[in-house]
Amino acid sequence: MIAFADCQDVRKMAVIKEIDCPERGAGEGIEVFERDNRTIGHSVCSRCGFTIPEDVALESYLEELK
Ligand SMILES: [Zn+2]
Repeated sequence: MIAFADCQDVRKMAVIKEIDCPERGAGEGIEVFERDNRTIGHSVCSRCGFTIPEDVALESYLEELK
């Protein structure tokens, strides 16, 4: 029951961001789930398969790719 409650909290606090694919740029979008500025789960580009790992700070992760 406790695990179920935790799951609900995660959903409530999660935000969804759509970003341009870091691999191919604009035109390919990736939906990234984020909570407390950390990603939740893996986010995979449906076009090229680029994967954003879970539990990273999205903005600094993207910054490091440049
Ligand atoms: Zn892509």
